[in-house]
Amino acid sequence: MIRHGAPCPFCRTPLLENVYQVRSQQSDFTQREKVIDRRCPAGCNKTRSDQWNDVMRALYPDD
Ligand SMILES: [Zn+2]
Repeated sequence: MIRHGAPCPFCRTPLLENVYQVRSQQSDFTQREKVIDRRCPAGCNKTRSDQWNDVMRALYPDD
């Protein structure tokens, strides 16, 4: 599913996050979310692609 995330570090537009919900093996009630992909509606992920990858890795090291 696509949802709005934190503001873009470059232009402050809320990011679009493509989120995958992971159901736990142990319990049907526990869900984890895995963000597959983040992008900026204003296109910062394309126009600043070098910086984008560095910044996203710094902000979201676990994803
Ligand atoms: Zn942006």
